[in-house]
Amino acid sequence: MIKINENYKKLKASYLFSDIAKRVAQYSEKNPDAKIIRLGIGDVTRALPPVCIEALHRAVDEMSQDSSFMGYGPEQGYEFLREKIAHHDFQERGVNISADEIFISDGAKCDTGNIQELFSQEINIAVPDPVYPVYVDTNVMAGRTGENIEGRYENLLYLDSNEGNNFVPAPPQERVDLIYLCFPNNPTGATATKAQLQEWVDYARENDSLILFDAAYESFIRDESLPHSIFEMEGAREVAIEFRSFSKNAGFTGTRCAFTVVPKECRAFYSEGKPTQLHPLWLRRQSTKFNGVSYPVQRAAEAVYSDAGREQIGELTDFYLGNAKIIIFTMTELGYKCTGGVNSPYIWVNVKGNSWEAFDRILNRAAVVCTPGVGFGNCGEGYIRISAFNSRENVLGAMERIGEALK
Ligand code: PLP
Repeated sequence: MIKINENYKKLKASYLFSDIAKRVAQYSEKNPDAKIIRLGIGDVTRALPPVCIEALHRAVDEMSQDSSFMGYGPEQGYEFLREKIAHHDFQERGVNISADEIFISDGAKCDTGNIQELFSQEINIAVPDPVYPVYVDTNVMAGRTGENIEGRYENLLYLDSNEGNNFVPAPPQERVDLIYLCFPNNPTGATATKAQLQEWVDYARENDSLILFDAAYESFIRDESLPHSIFEMEGAREVAIEFRSFSKNAGFTGTRCAFTVVPKECRAFYSEGKPTQLHPLWLRRQSTKFNGVSYPVQRAAEAVYSDAGREQIGELTDFYLGNAKIIIFTMTELGYKCTGGVNSPYIWVNVKGNSWEAFDRILNRAAVVCTPGVGFGNCGEGYIRISAFNSRENVLGAMERIGEALK
């Protein structure tokens, strides 16, 4: 008898996006002429920057000739890309990260999901609430949690993110082994200061813990005082792994390219207490289970770091931040308290009531789709997430309608 991994039974089916789709379909049926504007999901809407398209075309042409054809690439990613990342994303900002500490992948989602394979079943884990669901579900699948009871899994420590802590939880009193942090945050749009991240790094050092730092939205940071990388913190190289992505800065959501930074000093421990480097383990894992990102896509990602590329992604992210400003303006005018949207493409709105009721009100009265905050965790109840990833026309239209509908 072929038996399944019964941990999958514990997964609380993610009804969030299917529930949203169902309600939108019902609304559509009743209002066939309504032009629905979707500010719900976190997918980008604008085309790839021209530099990336040019690099893609060139690389595709190379693939057409035997003399320049590229087959399997290095498992860690091509050096031409890793060098650019190390230089521009880290060394130029005074952060000590070298090209051989970077692992190119096809997504921060896969990497944040796969990384937990390196750790024992027995570890205890802290996740923020609200949370990017991948951090939780991958650990459920691996059997590190108990059952889901009233929206929370047993054996996970939830770090409440709320208005009281500006959606940046402080380290807990108790010790945990593995900590997931994400700044700028999805879904709240909150950002962490250097002092706050330093506190987490100090906690991880004192407790022999490890921080998994998801910086997928780093390129939206405009406030000069905010850290772009966990490795700006003193002592972080031993206790943190960082995830980055080309999805949101350069619109690679459908093209797929990301990277993970595992410093050479970064360590975990054998059961008898002996430390061991995580870098060779991640390399072993990736070279066993992953065959790299395609050559044309890595060339397109490399183009992001050219002068023109940096200008073009600056323009792209500025554009979405412009949308965010419009959203914040309207929602604030209507009397709602907003978090995020300044160094982040997400606006987290306190709807002063139930998340789903607010979702339905906005859909039924304004034909605009947002995301109910409770779908990201119990602490998300009372909030909605509005995404700035859309055209200017749609954002202006959506805000005009919401302004009329909720006045
Ligand atoms: N991490 C966070 C916090 C995200 O919100 C997302 C996508 O929405 C990802 C990672 C996924 O990134 P990628 O497209 O590189 O898989």
